[in-house]
Amino acid sequence: MSTCTVPSHDNATSGDNLYGPRACWQELVNWAWAAFGFQNQYWDDGFGYEDACNRDLPVNRTMSAIWLLCYSAEDYNNDEYSNNCLHWARRYCWNQIDSLKAFCGDGSAVASASGSNVNLYLGYWYDQDVSVRASTLLHEARHLGGKSHNANFPSGSAFGSGGGADSSWGYEGAWMYEVLYLWWFYADGRRSTTALKQRARQEANLYIDNAFATHPGFNIA
Ligand SMILES: [Zn+2]
Repeated sequence: MSTCTVPSHDNATSGDNLYGPRACWQELVNWAWAAFGFQNQYWDDGFGYEDACNRDLPVNRTMSAIWLLCYSAEDYNNDEYSNNCLHWARRYCWNQIDSLKAFCGDGSAVASASGSNVNLYLGYWYDQDVSVRASTLLHEARHLGGKSHNANFPSGSAFGSGGGADSSWGYEGAWMYEVLYLWWFYADGRRSTTALKQRARQEANLYIDNAFATHPGFNIA
């Protein structure tokens, strides 16, 4: 992080105090490092490569999201696609993401995807809850799976104007996958807290209202 510094953040609200210690688990880190293709040279210099249990740094904050991705279904060993998204999101991300890099970024995006690589930027670790970080990995994985954003944001969108939206829920794009994950995490996520699940619901509704050119026609009550 030679060109940026850690912004102020609240680990209680974001879930890092809950998930950070769980992700401080060498076997998980070793598995995830290979499974998602963490590129060593992009995760040192302050991003936490030498300090993987420090919940204020990107490595642990990413591992927390991966822990959540792995263990939020009741029967988390069952990753069949016939089950709800909590089961298969890890598998989908694992299949799609071959390379993961950390950057400061310029503040315009929290993440980006190209080829089979995903870049993560400062806002990913410090503006997003652990659950949203997990859903962002699924969002980017969906891009790698061949679904680009295909529409402009609806007028008045919190995300501005121009491209970056999905045309509809039925397009089954990155926003739909992301909302689906947050929705299921709210509805049936395990090993979490009511507060974190409520925040996941709010985030999902934000996307429902602002990231689809044609509103899906529902919100998560
Ligand atoms: Zn996207």
